[in-house]
Amino acid sequence: MNAPPEKETLKPSNFLRQVIERDLEQGTYTQRKWAGQPADAAGHAQGQADPARIRTRFPPEPNGYLHVGHAKSICLNFGLARDYGGVCHMRFDDTNPEKEDKEFVDSILDAVHWLGFGWEAHGTSHLYHASDYFDFMYRAAEYLVEAGLAYVDEQSAQDMRINRGDFNRPGTDSPYRSRSIDENLQRFRDMRDAKLADGAAVLRAKIDMAHPNINLRDPAIYRIRRANHHNTGDKWCIYPMYTYAHPIEDALENITHSICTLEFEDQRPFYDWLLDRLAEGGLVNQPHPRQYEFARLNLTYVITSKRKLKQLVDEGRVSGWDDPRMPTIVGLRRRGYTAQSIQLFADRIGVTKSDSWIDYSTLEGALRDDLDPKAARAMAVLDPVQLVISNWDALHDVGFLDACSAPVHPHLPEAGTREFKFGRELWIERSDYEDVPPKGYNRLFPGNKVRLKYGHVIECKGATRDAAGHITQVQAELIPDTKSGTPGASAIKVKGVITWVAAADAVPAQVRLYDKLFTVPQPDTSDKDFLEELNPDSLKVITAYVEPALAQARPDDRFQFERHGYFVADRIEHAPGRPVFNKITGMKDSFGK
Ligand code: ATP
Ligand code: MG
Repeated sequence: MNAPPEKETLKPSNFLRQVIERDLEQGTYTQRKWAGQPADAAGHAQGQADPARIRTRFPPEPNGYLHVGHAKSICLNFGLARDYGGVCHMRFDDTNPEKEDKEFVDSILDAVHWLGFGWEAHGTSHLYHASDYFDFMYRAAEYLVEAGLAYVDEQSAQDMRINRGDFNRPGTDSPYRSRSIDENLQRFRDMRDAKLADGAAVLRAKIDMAHPNINLRDPAIYRIRRANHHNTGDKWCIYPMYTYAHPIEDALENITHSICTLEFEDQRPFYDWLLDRLAEGGLVNQPHPRQYEFARLNLTYVITSKRKLKQLVDEGRVSGWDDPRMPTIVGLRRRGYTAQSIQLFADRIGVTKSDSWIDYSTLEGALRDDLDPKAARAMAVLDPVQLVISNWDALHDVGFLDACSAPVHPHLPEAGTREFKFGRELWIERSDYEDVPPKGYNRLFPGNKVRLKYGHVIECKGATRDAAGHITQVQAELIPDTKSGTPGASAIKVKGVITWVAAADAVPAQVRLYDKLFTVPQPDTSDKDFLEELNPDSLKVITAYVEPALAQARPDDRFQFERHGYFVADRIEHAPGRPVFNKITGMKDSFGK
């Protein structure tokens, strides 16, 4: 057996890591064999010793785009498999006969790859479809019938509901519960052979109608539904219920640790009941998989219901699934999030057994920590006002432009330098000038000296306003011999340093400034319609002036615009000569402020 990779000891522990480490220590699964593909007990018995130390799985329904909550589950399942010498299976949970959309399938596979994970291991692809197991699921159901562990119930839906009882009241046995095995088998086959109408009967596990856990009061395991399935076509008119199908999928795939969200906790006893019975019957491999539950991700200012995200797209509230305000993986990616930052986020939040809300700033913090050491720096003026150096022409030939340079990254000298010009006319931020400075204001106001970063020290002389009172131009004089990086440049001390670009070489760029998509920290948790909680000002599109080097940016290139935050060249709409940047996040946490 391979020594566990070093990562194992570096990550903070959590209850799942403890379970896995205990299982590895005790050799819980070491005797198991693996057929090289999903198989029943007999199939696996003919295989080799399982080369995977553990097996986990990520089982989305292919009915939508993945979101940040799924990202947590992906990082968890694929991450645990990676850290413990295991394999994580990519499984499409397509037991519902809904139309499978190729768009969703492709986007899911793409999202998992982009996040940095894959399902190739030991020379095979571990990409599976739950619907490939329909034959086995049917065989297992007949086995349960034959073992007296399942029966066909033909009560009306309403009677079935009433007879189930509730928390305070035990259930009542169905009149069909005492049918003979032969009759049950016949009726189950009638269900399969389309002799009964949709909804006329269900196959139920025979457990205990008085069980304190309602999920064990003879749960339905097969229903009749005449529907075409994308994989099996019209072969079946009965389909397994999720609670029956899922444990079987896990067992056939030799999953060791089946990790799901807390709402399935009450289903665990049935998960074990079913696999124990099927293992006794020699149908599935032993020891069978175990289910473990963790708290789903709730992120402030974010909704993660697929249905509601779809509504935002369908109603045109956002530009699409990949709108940079969407919490989908394609949205986060387009916004400028890196796969590493999402992995870092998942590691930091860890896994717990109780539901809570994670502050959005945790996600942004992970992004900043990932980008700060590597993102190229650049100057950009987002709300430009003209600055004229009134003594420029007296100091230089008319039209002279002074070459300036700055490090691409302050701590990465090997990243080189960026070049830009300084001239008579510059662009500065409107907020960097005040006629009368508020207390503590160190930037431009008449009589004050500031440094133009990587350029010269200037002294502000005043500003011109239009009839409406808006500043149209700020004037200043350059103090000679103060250029950054030249001898004596620091002889004049200034308190303020501002960013700028030169009118001569700056490039106009479309910049999209994003804010929270919802105005409340816990959207969709009150009686209010979640649409009323949408932030009407979540997107502001502006034209900014950016440093000339940014005209060469490629889509997905990320930058720190000095003083402003992190920005990415939009992966769809940015093109050289027509720059488009998305604001990823500011320099500091602004959430909750
Ligand atoms: P929906 O919220 O639309 O119902 P879902 O949970 O049904 O989504 P699936 O495609 O079934 O979506 O999810 C695949 C996996 O992702 C499941 O194992 C599920 O536990 C996990 N998952 C989904 N949402 C979250 C979340 N918010 N946090 C953590 N894991 C999640
Ligand atoms: Mg689901």
